[in-house]
Amino acid sequence: MSAGTVNYAQTRSFLIDTTKCTGCRGCQVACKQWNQLKAEKTTFFSGEGYQNPPQMSEYTFTRVKFKDYEKHGQNEFAFYKEMCMHCNEPACASVCPVGAFHKTPEGPVVYDSKKCIGCRFCMVACPFGVPKYEWSKAFPLVKKCTGCYSRVKAGLEPACATACPTAITYGSRDEMLKEASRRIAAKPERYYKTIYGKEEAGGTGVLYLTQQPLDELGFKKITKRPLPSYTWQALRLVPGIFLTVGGTLSAISWFQHRKDRIRKEEEGMQEKDK
Ligand code: SF4
Ligand code: SF4
Ligand code: SF4
Repeated sequence: MSAGTVNYAQTRSFLIDTTKCTGCRGCQVACKQWNQLKAEKTTFFSGEGYQNPPQMSEYTFTRVKFKDYEKHGQNEFAFYKEMCMHCNEPACASVCPVGAFHKTPEGPVVYDSKKCIGCRFCMVACPFGVPKYEWSKAFPLVKKCTGCYSRVKAGLEPACATACPTAITYGSRDEMLKEASRRIAAKPERYYKTIYGKEEAGGTGVLYLTQQPLDELGFKKITKRPLPSYTWQALRLVPGIFLTVGGTLSAISWFQHRKDRIRKEEEGMQEKDK
């Protein structure tokens, strides 16, 4: 099924209620465990909040951001889980010249490492800075949150949603939007009256409720227009990216040769190991 035929209302989606998040980071740990992501040495970062690890990486598909704010003269903390937004119309997929990313009918946006040619256009195109590259490896791949697609296909919830004691609800996008609106209507004093992800980037599979205005918490201000319509315009501004169709095809050819060379080198290494 192509992305054009995905029924977005029925895609499995996250509702992350930051007003209920305790900052326990059970989601971070569950993600590491389920995806068998290795530990990495990190340092505390207090630039845009107070979190460790300082950013998502090829080994950290999700992290909980800590942000302090003042309420009635008291210092308070807000916590929110950052991850791939599983966009309805993903910019990463629209810009990938070989179709290595796609929006599944179930909801997660997934990546096929066998197709990837390593051009990293997806990293430039994603407005949320999600895809990461395995810079430290000899044969690097792109890495990001998988939406726990294998679990979702088996009828399970993602590992992070299962581990979360309070803040994450998982269900159809339609139900999650209704639930978010219900919570805002029931407790208007508790919630900022915007559901982040409802319209951002044309709508995403991760929806947030907050207590504070979104910019105060560091949520990115993203256009409501689906990003694929902008993608190539945006990439034109990036130095070193090939602008013409001919140039793009040359690039693909160059990257394909690179991939073939890497595969041959890998096969050679395996032969030696025998
Ligand atoms: S957040 Fe970025 S990586 Fe995730 S689906 Fe959207 S464009 Fe792709
Ligand atoms: S959906 Fe899966 S891969 Fe994505 S953050 Fe949650 S546990 Fe990690
Ligand atoms: S597991 Fe839930 S409550 Fe704990 S940090 Fe993650 S989102 Fe917040």
